[in-house]
Amino acid sequence: MALLTELQNLDLTGTTEKIIAEYIWIGGSGLDMRSKARTIAKPVTDPKQLPNWNYDGSSTGQARGEDSEVILYPQAIFKDPFRRGNNILVMCDSYTPAGEPIPTNNRHKAAQVFNNPAVIAEGTWFGLEQEYTLLQKDVNWPLGWPLGGYPPPQGPYYCGTGVDKAFGRDIVDAHYKACIYAGINISGINGEVMPGQWEFQIGPSEGIAAADQLWVARYVLERVTEAAGVVLSFHPKPIKGEWNGAGCHTNFSTKPMRDEGGYEVIKKAIEKLGLRHKEHIQAYGEDNEQRLTGRCETADINTFRWGVADRGASIRVGRDTEKEGKGYFEDRRPASNMDPYVVTAMIAETSILWKPT
Ligand code: ADP
Ligand code: MN
Ligand code: MN
Ligand code: MN
Repeated sequence: MALLTELQNLDLTGTTEKIIAEYIWIGGSGLDMRSKARTIAKPVTDPKQLPNWNYDGSSTGQARGEDSEVILYPQAIFKDPFRRGNNILVMCDSYTPAGEPIPTNNRHKAAQVFNNPAVIAEGTWFGLEQEYTLLQKDVNWPLGWPLGGYPPPQGPYYCGTGVDKAFGRDIVDAHYKACIYAGINISGINGEVMPGQWEFQIGPSEGIAAADQLWVARYVLERVTEAAGVVLSFHPKPIKGEWNGAGCHTNFSTKPMRDEGGYEVIKKAIEKLGLRHKEHIQAYGEDNEQRLTGRCETADINTFRWGVADRGASIRVGRDTEKEGKGYFEDRRPASNMDPYVVTAMIAETSILWKPT
């Protein structure tokens, strides 16, 4: 064991210029993260310095066997907390050999919104609160829960401490530091209302960078839980009944919202979001109807409602934002399994580009 660990931790920087680049992409389910590694001749500082690569799309549900090649375009790079040194993680998106984005490439669609000069000029910031559940391997039952039974009801677990209230803190903390090391703008972590459920926050990050960072943070979490022998679930309602579901609250602001008089701009954006409630719900994650029941700190999926400091609303404005007359708002509807490329682009599109008729 000692030798294996030593070899895994070998510092390459004293021996060679070469680095290892772990190319990451999203597979055909829209939630499965895939990755593979290749050697690069020397350290890089920009994804444009990296070559495109390819993978077998027939093995990820993204191409037919006879014509299986899918091309990876490097889009964002991060330091690799697992291999360290000059090694990197590379967030990619997927194209056909002819250069067309494949149908599941939601990053490409998001980039079209975020590259729009009218959107760039607004200085969009996102804060993404990723909730997730840790499950015991093989039994699909949350970490810390008795097999074949339930823990005492919710109440003591949210931000709780102690062996009977916080389950998996070593994983959460390892992930937190690994993300900071990687250069991800992770802004915090907390234990959630349902035991075995946790949250981390990304942001505020500008434009498409927020979604890139959330995807790489999810990837890092998959790797940390893999090492820990624990299963990671992004299901929005992992346990039926009076147990809180998992969301990905999306906090949003533009420069005019953050400036003097911003509260009026916020209210106009929320009004537009309300007019497109159905479209947004459709894009906010699968099985979200199991979570948005109007109970457990959610608004009913068929109702659009906003309020100050209201955790039962679709959209919540913070007390600080109301008091200062500027700031940001929180869209509480997105599910934990949402695609941040889809959700952030749609919020920007509706609030900035869309003109109600
Ligand atoms: P909650 O009180 O809903 O649990 P959190 O503290 O978990 O809120 O998350 C709030 C998120 O909002 C953080 O990621 C934070 O970085 C982000 N945020 C803060 N200010 C802004 C802003 N002006 N625009 C967008 N996001 C912001
Ligand atoms: Mn939160
Ligand atoms: Mn939360
Ligand atoms: Mn929140």
